[in-house]
Amino acid sequence: MSTLALAFDLGGTELRGALVERSGDVVARVSAPTMAGAGAEAVIGQIIALADRLLNEHPQARVIGIGACAPGPLDPKAGIVIGPPTLAGWHNVPLIDILSRQFGLPVRLENDANAAALGEWRFGAGRGAGSLVFVTVSTGIGGGVVADGHIYHGRRGLAAEIGHMTITGEGDRCFCGNVGCFEAVASGTALGRRATRLTAPGDGSLLRRLSGDGDVSARHVVEAARAGDAAARELIEAEARWLGIGFTNLLHLYSPDLIVMGGGLSNGFDLLAPGIRATVEQRAMQAYRDVPIVPAELGDRAGLVGAASLILWEGEPGTALAMGQDEETKNGAGGQSGVREASHG
Ligand SMILES: [Zn+2]
Repeated sequence: MSTLALAFDLGGTELRGALVERSGDVVARVSAPTMAGAGAEAVIGQIIALADRLLNEHPQARVIGIGACAPGPLDPKAGIVIGPPTLAGWHNVPLIDILSRQFGLPVRLENDANAAALGEWRFGAGRGAGSLVFVTVSTGIGGGVVADGHIYHGRRGLAAEIGHMTITGEGDRCFCGNVGCFEAVASGTALGRRATRLTAPGDGSLLRRLSGDGDVSARHVVEAARAGDAAARELIEAEARWLGIGFTNLLHLYSPDLIVMGGGLSNGFDLLAPGIRATVEQRAMQAYRDVPIVPAELGDRAGLVGAASLILWEGEPGTALAMGQDEETKNGAGGQSGVREASHG
C-alpha cells in the first residue's frame, strides 16, 4: 500500500475521518456525530477512537502523518483551535500537540474552509490554477484563498473571512453583530429567510407546499425554481445578484484564476450561474470579467483531502502538471472562460 495520511474534518455536527493517498484518493472513511456540546476532551476522544478504527481496519497502511481541519478561528502555525462558535468548550486547544503526542506522528492543522480550498485546488475544480478563491455558501459563507500556490493566511491564519465583508448597508443583522455582511444577505440561510417572508403558511404557494407549510429553506427555493415556479425564480435571481456582488469584490481583491463555489447552495449552481455572471460582468472592471466561476467538485470530502495534502504534499506549492495547465490557459488553449459546468474525471 502506498504512503497515506490520516485526515480529520472536525465539524460542528459531524466528525469525519479518512485514510487518504497522495493522489487525493480516499482509501477508507469513517464518521460520527460530533459531541459538540461535550467539550474538547470528549471530541478529541472521538478523534482518537476514529483513528484507531481506521488503523485497525488497515493494519498494512503506511501512515506518515495526520492532517486535520476544524472551524475557525484557529491558528494553523501554532496548531491551536482558538474558539469556534459551533464547538462548546474549545478555548485555545493545542490540537497539534495533543494529537502528535498521542500518535507519535507529525500533525498539521488548517481552518476547514482553507482545507477545502486546498482540496479543490489540488484535486478538484481548481486543478491547474495558480490562484483561486473557494467560496462555500450554505448556512453561512466561508472561504479560502490560494494565492500564487499557497494558502493565504494573514495574521494568525485569520485571512479570507469573506462571509463578513460588508457588501451593503441594509438588511438583517449578521450573527457577528454587523449589518450588511456578505453572509447575512447571500447565505443559504438568508435565501430561505427571504422565501419564508415572501410566503405564508397555507397560501398554497409551491414554496410552502414543499416546506410542508413550515419555514422555507434554500433547498426548497432551488427545487421550486427547477419546477419553474415564478416566485422561486425571482428569489434565485436576487440571490445570484448578491453572490455576484460578493464575487466581484473577491475578483478585485485577489485576482484569482477562478472562483470555485461549494457548499449546500452549489446544488443550485446551474440556476444561479447566469445571474452571478451577469452581475460580475456589470460590476467588475474589464480585466476581471472573464474569470471562470465554477462549482466545486469534491463535495464533503474537500476538507479531508485538503487536510491530508498538508502532510502528503508538504513543501510543494504546486505540481508540474499545474504549471503546464496554467500555461495553456494563459495562451487561450485551455478554453476556460465564463461559467462552466463541473468537469468530472
Ligand atoms: Zn458578519
